[in-house]
Amino acid sequence: MNKHTSDMMVHPPTVAYFSMEVGLDPAVPTYSGGLGMLAGDTLRSASDLAIPMVGVTLLYRKGYFRQHLDAQGNQTESPAVWSPEKLLEPMQPRVSVSIEGRKVQVRAWRYVVHGVAGDNVPVFLLDTALPENSPWDQTLTDYLYGGDDHYRLCQEVVLGLGGAAMLLALGYMRVQTYHMNEGHSALLTLALLEEHHERKGLHNVTKADREAVHHRCVFTTHTPVPAGMDKFPMDMVRKVLGDEPTNALQAVGAFQDGVLNMTHLALIFSRYINGVSMRHEEISRSMFPNYPINSITNGVHAVTWTSMPFQRLYDHHFPEWRHDSLYLRYVISCSLDLIREAHIEAKRDLLAEVEKRAGMKLDPKLMTIGFARRATAYKRADLLFSDLERLKRIARQVGPFQVIYGGKAHPRDEGGKALIRRIFQVANTLRDTIKVVYLEEYDMALAKYLCSGVDLWLNTPQKPDEASGTSGMKAALNGVPSLSILDGWWVEGHVEGVTGWSIGESDKPESDPSKDIASLYDKLEKVIVPMFYQQPDAYTSVMRLAIALNASFYNSQRMTFQYMENAYLHTDQAKA
Ligand SMILES: *Cc1c(COP(=O)(O)O)cnc(C)c1O
Repeated sequence: MNKHTSDMMVHPPTVAYFSMEVGLDPAVPTYSGGLGMLAGDTLRSASDLAIPMVGVTLLYRKGYFRQHLDAQGNQTESPAVWSPEKLLEPMQPRVSVSIEGRKVQVRAWRYVVHGVAGDNVPVFLLDTALPENSPWDQTLTDYLYGGDDHYRLCQEVVLGLGGAAMLLALGYMRVQTYHMNEGHSALLTLALLEEHHERKGLHNVTKADREAVHHRCVFTTHTPVPAGMDKFPMDMVRKVLGDEPTNALQAVGAFQDGVLNMTHLALIFSRYINGVSMRHEEISRSMFPNYPINSITNGVHAVTWTSMPFQRLYDHHFPEWRHDSLYLRYVISCSLDLIREAHIEAKRDLLAEVEKRAGMKLDPKLMTIGFARRATAYKRADLLFSDLERLKRIARQVGPFQVIYGGKAHPRDEGGKALIRRIFQVANTLRDTIKVVYLEEYDMALAKYLCSGVDLWLNTPQKPDEASGTSGMKAALNGVPSLSILDGWWVEGHVEGVTGWSIGESDKPESDPSKDIASLYDKLEKVIVPMFYQQPDAYTSVMRLAIALNASFYNSQRMTFQYMENAYLHTDQAKA
């Protein structure tokens, strides 16, 4: 046992994990996609590993949104209203934050994440819907990623400043590490600055104050593109936060050209910084050459994302997998028949769900391709349909297949909405040769059906925009191999023909769309579809290796353990 471990047991340091979205439970719609799922899986693994952690996020009474698609694929949205009262426990303390000079009252609701060995991690969801607040302030914790930049900045005040104050009010006096999951919560650094400045306000903060805050913060960046980072103009920041905090932000160099970049603020104050895959570390270092950036590749929570048939298989052969994901490595000694049988069952469950949701009967014997993720331009949901004649030829001459889609477009992402319409159009054009179905309401529950029930998980992002990607990891846990662009986690998780297949051979960080398209069709036509129909054992062997090699590593237990070892415990050893 090393020194850190023994110290920890005597004085457990608490890690406060801040995230704008968290995927806690299928019934709690406080997430939009990968970032929230990652946060949820991190908290689930932390409770499995008995890491003293507490989560902080916003309540979102109206959720992300419910997605409705008409016959042409036009998306409309309605609020995903839910009942916090039924699922969460209200906490007593009230704290306040100052927004545009008003005192906005904040309370918290508790959700408890239970770990496999009886430990747990509380998550506090902040709420401003209190009668003492103005009607507008009451809406601040209604919508995830709704509203304009001003609404967002006010939400980030509640998350960062309100969250830090709430932890103190709840008695968390010994938070050793504040982990910012993406830059949205970076205003918490202002609260810590003030705390170290002995609550004398934010003028004349000293170098020692800054260093003290730097020593307490950890930052995970998830965005490989500058446009994806939250930025607020100085006049807006001044109006919302007031003069003193704005001047303090200026003094620490958080404004660039008069704009507050939340990623920058988080970078300035973090002792440990990481990207979410090795490739993403490389991209982040080129974007922020002045900061020491490491990588801890994302992972998914094994028990949460494994379908029932595979849970039964793992339970039978290595029941230890429930508390130690490394045991998944031993799937290598399970027979191909066992893998096949478990997968047939998972596929049957998915096809039943498709029939229930979309009224479409798919053929269980047909190769089934899955594609589901946020509908947004860089994910290129329609890359598969770049050459319909060639696609039809493959289906007619090499082997038939069917495709299941899912994914919500952000309400203001017109490009994403157009992609959904395009898939509907193509589905109509292809309907006599290739069945294509687009399912509404891609969420945690549907993701689990899809990632486990298809035969091939397709991912076609534009390089280098996929920081990591995690749905392919969920697929791997269920023995479903990926066919994916070499970006994000797939750069390191891919072994050609062993754990799945690449689209494009190049390891270069930029995409060449015409080469991506040619490679996508070549792989389907010459390698994957023929193997699926003519060499079923070879295909099942790839499925088994996807579990043994990828699921045993790309899980959130390994990831959370790496955060412990690299980011939380060794506070003085951040890589320079
Ligand atoms: C896992 C998951 C995601 C993230 O998947 P990517 O591969 O990163 O796109 C998004 N949305 C939902 C509902 C998920 O379950």
